Amino acid sequence: MTHIRPVVLMGARDDAHVSQLAQRLGQEGVVAHVVDTLTFPEETHLALTEQLDGIHVNGGPLKTPGAVYLRGYHAHPLAFGVDVRDEMDADWRTTLVAFREKSTLLRGLLGRWEAMGVPIYNPESTSWRMPKPVQLALLEQAGLPVPETLWTNDPSAVRRFAAGRRVAYKPVEGGGATLELGPGDLTDARLAALEAAPVTFQTLLPGEDIRVYVLDGEIIASVRILSHALDFRRNEERVEPFELPPKVARQCLQATRVLGLRWTGMDLKRDAEGTLRFLELNDSPMFLGFDARAGTDILGHLARGLARAARS
Ligand code: ADP
Ligand code: MG
Ligand code: MG
Repeated sequence: MTHIRPVVLMGARDDAHVSQLAQRLGQEGVVAHVVDTLTFPEETHLALTEQLDGIHVNGGPLKTPGAVYLRGYHAHPLAFGVDVRDEMDADWRTTLVAFREKSTLLRGLLGRWEAMGVPIYNPESTSWRMPKPVQLALLEQAGLPVPETLWTNDPSAVRRFAAGRRVAYKPVEGGGATLELGPGDLTDARLAALEAAPVTFQTLLPGEDIRVYVLDGEIIASVRILSHALDFRRNEERVEPFELPPKVARQCLQATRVLGLRWTGMDLKRDAEGTLRFLELNDSPMFLGFDARAGTDILGHLARGLARAARS
């Protein structure tokens, strides 16, 4: 007899990715429990005992889930959806300590499920590979095409890297704009900004943007983003399904394996010679926007994948 266990979704209850996934899981006959990480600890009550499976949510014991989907912890003042400006202005130190406590408990919770063998999309054990300075180096070491890149706060290293070619620069963490480095960016005054924070410098890739989704070792969607701007995210013009050449498809699956991800949305961009190079693999990619514009069904694939895990 197959045994259907619940699927836990960790994220904000009113994040459309969470709510629509919960609804689709319901259609698959699977119960979805949302652990609302945005309203924790104000609303959601969590209680963990010293036993690995001693996990209580809102007063009741939580059965060991069949699978866990992690959308986000909302455990940092800068996290999307978190608004603690007033709390930070009033007492930044206590606010940061509270976020750190919240983060440590939530990561501990996910770690318990990982220790119990629950499939997690994606697990804590792979998170150390996600920062781009290690991620891209691991891909490069595995023989995968990545752009020449420099993460640095060293002005002279930037000048050497930029000599004689077009260079893009962007935040180390991501989430900010990508811009082309100009002659005005190589002055002493401008490069002094590197004393505040390091920056990513990368060979500028002038070609098309491709987004590929992989779930449980299979490509479930690939799209091309057509835009005239350097950074596609605020400048989307058209998104259309894009069939990957077999070699690139194999590379995408290999990149997913190298980083140990069960599920990912990755960005590739074509260089001047026509090679698609990996910009990044995201461990909790958004997908509803691509489904809406390109007619893909990433939501359905993800729901069926989680349901499959919960049934086995
Ligand atoms: P993020 O984590 O912020 O999404 P990405 O590395 O995916 O970071 O960069 C965001 C976008 O900026 C890319 O999808 C691409 O459109 C553009 N971009 C990033 N790096 C380069 C580059 N080296 N050359 C040209 N465009 C780039
Ligand atoms: Mg990213
Ligand atoms: Mg990206």
